[in-house]
Amino acid sequence: MNIQQPSEEQQLAVEGFRKFLDAEIRPAARRHRDHPIPKDRMRELTQAIAEFGLPGATVSAEHGGMGLSIVTEAMLFEELCAVSVDIGLCVMINKGMALTLAELPPSQAHLRDRYLADMMAGRTFGAFCISEPDVGSNVADIKTSARRDGEHFIINGEKTWISNGHYADIAIVTARTGPNGELSHILVDREAHGFESRNIDKIALNGQSTAQLFFSDTRVPYANIVWEEGQALKNTMKLFEKARANVGMLSVGLMRAALEASIAYAKERRQFGKPIAAHQLVAAKIAEMATLLDASRLMCFRAFSMMDQGIRCDVQSSMSKWFATENAVKVCRDAVQLHGGNGLTKEFDVERLAREAIVIPIPDGTTEIQKLMISRALTGIGAFI
Ligand SMILES: Cc1cc2nc3c(=O)[nH]c(=O)nc-3n(C[C@H](O)[C@H](O)[C@H](O)COP(=O)(O)OP(=O)(O)OC[C@H]3O[C@@H](n4cnc5c(N)ncnc54)[C@H](O)[C@@H]3O)c2cc1C
Repeated sequence: MNIQQPSEEQQLAVEGFRKFLDAEIRPAARRHRDHPIPKDRMRELTQAIAEFGLPGATVSAEHGGMGLSIVTEAMLFEELCAVSVDIGLCVMINKGMALTLAELPPSQAHLRDRYLADMMAGRTFGAFCISEPDVGSNVADIKTSARRDGEHFIINGEKTWISNGHYADIAIVTARTGPNGELSHILVDREAHGFESRNIDKIALNGQSTAQLFFSDTRVPYANIVWEEGQALKNTMKLFEKARANVGMLSVGLMRAALEASIAYAKERRQFGKPIAAHQLVAAKIAEMATLLDASRLMCFRAFSMMDQGIRCDVQSSMSKWFATENAVKVCRDAVQLHGGNGLTKEFDVERLAREAIVIPIPDGTTEIQKLMISRALTGIGAFI
C-alpha cells in the first residue's frame, strides 16, 4: 500500500477548513451540547460547511461537484468530526446522498437534476431508511411495503434509528416491491409525498437527529425508484462499503479530540509534585491512545485510497469500522480516567466524548456483524444467515 504525505494543496484545504471550524462550528457545537440542533440552525451550519466542499467534494465537476479524491474529502471530514460528531454525522449522511444522486444511471437523471444541487449546497437533508423496529442486523427481513398502483407506489411501514430522520427533506426508503418480496430503493420527498418523523432521545449525539419515520399510504411516482427495481440488497452492500469507513472516521474524530484534551490535561494537572504526564502509567496511556488513533486512521484511509483506485474494499472498510469504533470507546474512556474526577463533569469534554463513542459501534452494522462479514470473506463460510 502506498501511504503518501498530504500534498500542499490538501494541507492548505485542511488548514483553511480547520480555521473555519474553530471559529464557526466549535462554538455552535458547544452551545448545542446534548440538545437537538433545530433544523434551520443545522441548515445554516451545513450551508457554511458546504462552502469548503462537504458534502459534494467527490461529486464530479460534470455534476457540479469539486471532483476531489475520496482521500482528500476524508481529510476534510476528519477535521469536522474532531470538532463535532453530531454535525459530522449529519454531513456524512448528506455526503452519501449527494454521491448516490450523482451516480444514478441516465434513466434517473431527473432525480439528480431535482435534488443534487441543493444537497451539495447544504440546503437540504437526506436520509437512508433501512432499519425498522423488528429489523436491525438482518436487513433482508424488511417489512415496509411499496405496492404498485399504476404509475405509483403506495408505501406503508415504519423505519427507525434513521440518521437525519427529523431533518430529512428526502429519504431513500428500502421497501418490498416485487411479487416475491424483492427489495427496492425508492426516493421519497417529504413535502411532495409526505412522511412523519419523531426524534429518538439517546445516551449521546442528540445534537443531530436520529428518528423514527412513518409512511402511511405514501404515494410516490414509480419514476422515483433508485437504481434497478428489486436490487436493493446488492446496492445496500455497495452503500455500506463506502459508509463503514466513514463511520470509522467519526470515531477517529472522537479519539483525536480525546487525545488532544488528555495531552493538555496531563501537562497541566500536577500530582506528587509533577505534571501527571511525568508518571509512567499516564505516559503509557497517552502513547496507547495515540497509537490506536493512528492505526484506526490508517485503516480508514487504506479503504478510502482503495475506493479512489476503484478497488472494491468491503473487507477493509468493515475492518476499519469495527477497529476504529471499538477503540474509540477505549480511548475516550481512558481520557475520562486520565482526567480523574474532573473527567466525569460537564466542564470537560471527555465525558461527552465517552458517551458519544459508545454510540458509534452500532450504526451501519454492529461490530459483531462486521466481524462475521470479514470472517465470511476469508473462509467462504457464513456464520450467519
Ligand atoms: C446513532 C444511530 C444511527 C443510525 N442510523 C441509521 C440510518 O441512518 N439508517 C438506518 O436504516 N439505520 C440506522 N441505524 C440503525 C442501525 O443500523 C442498527 O441499530 C444496527 O444495524 C443494529 O440493529 P439493531 O439495533 O436492531 O440490533 P439487533 O440487530 O437487534 O442486534 C442486537 C445485538 O445482537 C447482535 N447480533 C445480531 N445478530 C447477530 C448475529 N447473527 N451474530 C452475532 N451477533 C448478532 C448485534 O451485534 C447486537 O449486539 C442507526 C443506529 C444508530 C444507533
